[in-house]
Amino acid sequence: MERMRELVDLLNKYAYQYYVLDEPTVSDVQYDALYNELLALEKESGTVLPDSPTKKIGGDPIKAFTPHVHINKLYSLDKCNSFEELRAWDAKLRQLKADIEYTVEYKLDGLTLCLTYEGGLLKCAATRGNGEVGEDVTAQVLTVKSIPTRIPYNGVVEVQGEGIMRLSAFNKYNETATEPLKNARNGVAGAIRNLDPKVTASRNLDVIFYNVNYLEDGYVPSQEENIKFLKDNRFKTETLFKSSDMEEVISYISKVDRQSLDFLIDGMVIKVNSVALREELGYTEKFPRWAMAYKFEAEETSTKLLDVEWNVGRTGKLTPLAILEAVELCGVTVKRATLNNYGDILRKKVKIGSNVFIRRSNDVIPEILGVAEDFEDSKQILPPTRCPSCGSELYEDGAHIFCPNEENCLPQIIGRLEHFCSKDCMDIRGISESTVTQIVNAFGVKEPTDLYKLTREQIGKLEGFKDKKTENFIASVEKSKSTSLPAFINALGIENVGKKAAKDLAERFRNIDALSVATKEELVTIDEVGDVMADCIVSYFARHKDRIEEFKSLGINPQMEEKQKSEGVFSGLKVVLTGTLSAFSRTVAAKEIEARGGEVTSSVTKLTDLVIVGEDAGSKKAKAEKLGIKTINEQEFLKLL
Ligand code: NAD
Repeated sequence: MERMRELVDLLNKYAYQYYVLDEPTVSDVQYDALYNELLALEKESGTVLPDSPTKKIGGDPIKAFTPHVHINKLYSLDKCNSFEELRAWDAKLRQLKADIEYTVEYKLDGLTLCLTYEGGLLKCAATRGNGEVGEDVTAQVLTVKSIPTRIPYNGVVEVQGEGIMRLSAFNKYNETATEPLKNARNGVAGAIRNLDPKVTASRNLDVIFYNVNYLEDGYVPSQEENIKFLKDNRFKTETLFKSSDMEEVISYISKVDRQSLDFLIDGMVIKVNSVALREELGYTEKFPRWAMAYKFEAEETSTKLLDVEWNVGRTGKLTPLAILEAVELCGVTVKRATLNNYGDILRKKVKIGSNVFIRRSNDVIPEILGVAEDFEDSKQILPPTRCPSCGSELYEDGAHIFCPNEENCLPQIIGRLEHFCSKDCMDIRGISESTVTQIVNAFGVKEPTDLYKLTREQIGKLEGFKDKKTENFIASVEKSKSTSLPAFINALGIENVGKKAAKDLAERFRNIDALSVATKEELVTIDEVGDVMADCIVSYFARHKDRIEEFKSLGINPQMEEKQKSEGVFSGLKVVLTGTLSAFSRTVAAKEIEARGGEVTSSVTKLTDLVIVGEDAGSKKAKAEKLGIKTINEQEFLKLL
C-alpha cells in the first residue's frame, strides 16, 4: 500500500508536468514503467486509490483557457507492448463474436484535438482535457493551414484528430530557435496550449484526423466510413489497413517503417471496424474495449549527463561528446550521446549533473534533446580554451570551436589522412585507422601528398605489413592517382563539402584548376552549394595553392570527360537560370538545357542569349532586361522542352 501511494503521487506529479505544463521531467518509458507497476499492484491487491491515474484520462483543463464540454466523451486507449498481448486481446473479443474485422492506423504522437462544426462552419476546437471537459483552443488551431473552416456537412459534428508537428517543420524550427524544442510532441502541445496564437503559427503545425466523435443525424457505421466521412469533408487523414485476421494485422504492423515518416508515431492503433460491435463491447472508465494501441519500442529516454568530452575532427572542429550514466534504449546500453557543438549546448541549456532526454537517431550514437531536470549541483559546461590534443589556443567561429593547428594537431592529421584514403575518396585499400596512426608516428606523414612519397622499405617496416600487404598498399596508392574528379574533390576534405556536393562541383567545373579559381558568386549558383559552403571552398583554395600544385606534380589532376555536344532547341545558346522553378531544381533544369544543346552559365553578360526567369527572380532578371536579353518564364521554358 505504501508503494502504491508513492507511485500514485509520483505519477500524478509527472502527469501534471506532462499534460498541464507541457514540460515533462521523465520520458514516456520511465512513466509507463511506473504506471505498469501501479497497475500490477492494483490488480494484485484489488484496491485502487481514489486519485489513481489509472482511473483518469489526461489532465484537468487549465483556467487560462475557456472550458469546452465535449458532446461525447473522449477516451484514452488501452495499450500493449507485444504481439502476444494483441493475440490474447483478439482471442478475448472472438469469444463474443467469431467474425471480427479490424482496422489498423498509425498511433500519432501529438496532442488530441476535437473540432466542432455547425452549419458547415468551424465553431470550436478543443483539447481532450480530462475527456469530458477540454480547453477551447480555437484561435490557436485556426493557425493550422490544413484545417477546413467550412465543410460540406451541415449538421453538428465533432471530429477528432491529432495535432502534430512534422519532423521537417520541427528540424527547421530548431535550426534557428533560441529555445530549441525537446521533441515534436512537446512542440505541438506547447504551441496549441499557448495563449498567444502567434506562437502556434510559428510552429507550422498540422492535424491528422481519425475519428467522428459525434454526428447529429445518425452515426457512422464503421471506422472505414469514419475515414471516408473525414476525407469527404476535407480533413487530412492517414493510411488505414483492414483485415479480419490478427496474424495479418501483426504482419502489417511488423512492416511499418516509422523512420520513413515525417511525423512521430509511438505505435499502431487496432480498432474493431464495425460500430455496432463496438457498442456491444463498450468502454471502461478510461478506454474503449474495442481498440488497442500496440506501442513500439521507445526511441526516447532520459538519463544523467556525467561529463562532456571534446573531440578534434579532421577540419579542426571540436565536437562535444556527452558521457552518460548507462541506460537501456532500443535494446542497447547507451553511455554516450552527441551534442552538436557549443552553441547547441548553450541553446539546449544542458548541464553536467542534469537529467537529459536522449533519442535514438539514425546514427549509431543517440542525440541529446534537452534537459529533463536540473539539480542544485548541476554544473555549467564551459567551452574549452585549449585544444585537448595539442594544447593550441582555440578560436570560436559561430556556434563552433576550432583548433587552428592544422599542421601539427595529431587528430586533425589522422582524420584528414583517413578521410583521404576512404572508399568514397581516393579509395586506398588496406589502410585502417591504426595504419594511418603508425604511418604518422613512424614517418612524420602530415599531408595526404606525403603518402605518395612513402617507399616500399618504409611500409615494409610497419607492424603487420609483410611483402604481399606492402605490395598491395603501394599498388593501391599508385592506382589512386587515376581517381575521378568527384572522388578527388571529396578527398580534399574541404569543410562542409560532402560526396554529393563534390560531384556537383566536378560536373560544373570539370577540373581542379577551374574549381580553384571559382568565385563565391559562381559557386552559389549550384543547387547543392550555399553561402557557407561557398566560403569554405574559396577559403580552402586560397590557403592551399601549394598543396594543389603538389598533387598535380604527383600526377594527380583528374578531369571530367568532355561532354558530348547535344543538339536541340537550345543549340548554340548561352542560357542563364534565375529564381525558383516549380517543376525542377536548377540543377535538373540545367541538365535538360544541356541535353538540348544549350550551355548554362551562372551570370548574365552581353554574351547571354536567353534568361529563364522563375519565381522571386532578382538582379539577374533586371540585368537581362537592361541589356535587352530575351527572358522567358517557366511556362514558356516548359513549352520549349
Ligand atoms: P496515449 O496518448 O498513449 O493514447 C491515447 C491517445 O492516442 C488518444 O487520445 C489520441 O489522441 C491518440 N491517438 C493517436 N493516433 C490515434 C488513432 N489513430 N486513433 C485513436 N487515437 C489516436 O494515451 P494518453 O492517455 O493520452 O497518454 C498516456 C501516455 O502519455 C502514456 O503512455 C505516457 O507514455 C505518456 N505520459 C507521459 C508522461 C511523462 O511524464 N513523460 C506523463 C503522463 C503521460
